[in-house]
Amino acid sequence: MQKKRVVFSYPQHLVEQPVITRLVKDFDLTVNILRARITPKEQGRLVLEMTGKRSNLEAGINYIKELGVEIQSLAQDVKWHEDRCTHCTACISICRTRALDVDRSTMEVSFNRDKCIACELCIPVCPYQAMEILF
Ligand code: SF4
Ligand code: SF4
Repeated sequence: MQKKRVVFSYPQHLVEQPVITRLVKDFDLTVNILRARITPKEQGRLVLEMTGKRSNLEAGINYIKELGVEIQSLAQDVKWHEDRCTHCTACISICRTRALDVDRSTMEVSFNRDKCIACELCIPVCPYQAMEILF
């Protein structure tokens, strides 16, 4: 089994299509919606975690792309501005996935994109706007 965290951007005409249902039924994938947002222009934006066999994941993603849904890795939409980070550690206890973590020996904060689920909890607690979610 493999997991993949991705961001789907739906064009307006696909917002009401049962795209996720097809992924579950036709490709035997488990789909966990981490975030969902519809923009004022009615473009859909979903952050998903998909789990399944590698071949099914690839087939499901190809199906989605052929429909016209833009797909990108979640990592591309979450930014840690290291130059702004003062390693104050205010975000550490709020980050449930430990994507933001601190090395207790050096007190240096680091960010692991692969663990981030784009929950946005760190955004309001960071006094230096070092975390940015781009959607
Ligand atoms: S968005 Fe959520 S998971 Fe990602 S770094 Fe911030 S608190 Fe952690
Ligand atoms: S709250 Fe902001 S400045 Fe402080 S450690 Fe976290 S990312 Fe860095």
